[in-house]
Amino acid sequence: MSDLLALRPPVPVIELSGSAYERGCKHGEVLREQIGDFIGSIMQLHEINLTFATSCDELKSHCMRNYQYLQSYSPDLARELEGIACGSAQSLDAIMLLNSFLELEDLRVAKLGKQLLSAGASTSELIASNVGSDGDKNPFGAHGYPVWGCTSFNVMPRASADGHAFVGQTYDMEDYYAKYNAMFRITHEDGHTELVYSLAGILGLNGMNSSGVGVCINKLVATDARLGISYPALIRNALSKRRVGDAFGAIVFARRACGMNYQIASADGVAWCVEVSAGDYDILSLDDPSRNGVIAHSNHYLSSRMRAYETPGWLSHGGSYVREQVASRYLNEMRGKIDAKSLMTLSKDHTNYPRCICAHGYEGESEFVAFATIAAVIYDLNSKTAWITNGNPCQNDFKMIALKP
Ligand SMILES: [Zn+2]
Repeated sequence: MSDLLALRPPVPVIELSGSAYERGCKHGEVLREQIGDFIGSIMQLHEINLTFATSCDELKSHCMRNYQYLQSYSPDLARELEGIACGSAQSLDAIMLLNSFLELEDLRVAKLGKQLLSAGASTSELIASNVGSDGDKNPFGAHGYPVWGCTSFNVMPRASADGHAFVGQTYDMEDYYAKYNAMFRITHEDGHTELVYSLAGILGLNGMNSSGVGVCINKLVATDARLGISYPALIRNALSKRRVGDAFGAIVFARRACGMNYQIASADGVAWCVEVSAGDYDILSLDDPSRNGVIAHSNHYLSSRMRAYETPGWLSHGGSYVREQVASRYLNEMRGKIDAKSLMTLSKDHTNYPRCICAHGYEGESEFVAFATIAAVIYDLNSKTAWITNGNPCQNDFKMIALKP
């Protein structure tokens, strides 16, 4: 492999407890240096990848428009963000900018970006800089859009080797983001605990809880993206629930800002793969005979009804379709024998390299463009154990982290 990376140290695990504000303060204090560096450099990534040239202040204002939705959706998580801002000595709008990192990916699409930035910003001067003369026509050269995409999997107890439920994913972004990998173990006063994979300054990207509920995701670029609740808040609100049905409701019946696929699973064997746009959703049943207890997902809608929300041209390099087929076939072939080790093997797959499940950048690309697996995560919802890599799983070992130490 031409792009061998130095082995990375294990992802740090940070203990959080107390009130929402206290949790945020501790998060901000412990990761102050990383959060400061993240905020200080994120515009370099956005300037390269967003369709419209905007100032950092304009992007922060755009992201802050979502804060009002968060305040009514979860006052606790809004307070936690305020705590992160205080603890890291950063402004709240800068923390909102970080927490909107996947919503901001929608601004890479010319038509969608204009629609989003124009919402509530009547004086906004939008200057198309990274767009070709044909509007959404790919302006990014031989490798196409610098498009990212995770690969996720959801395994019901009856499809695993030991009767455990598994959910997990590769988390695939520009390699730049890997510097900010972190895990949070969040202990509430009543003993409810969440183990959350995230980035410095952000509420959470996926995770599981002590009630055996787990959630992972795939980004989908839906044409109805709008102002609303950003995805890290949906993840954390779902993980605060003791019942899997409540976790489902926290995600599906919220005013979402953007499209996404949510893999929701539980130790008691109830699981869904829920494709959402901002305002709509469809459920892919794991009980469907063609799936029989397993499902893999990547970055295109599988539901024929939801396909109407697919952003035209966005997935033109086809990598998403390859990853979905490779992962689905593997899960089908391994049905009844699936365990954490086999899911680690799946996470390292290089079919269609470098646009593969274990994703790598092209040689010579900067960290702001090189699209790579920044972490691979597997959750066993019955043993309440996670395994995570810091960077590509083909080059970095999975480290085991127990929900409760
Ligand atoms: Zn790899």
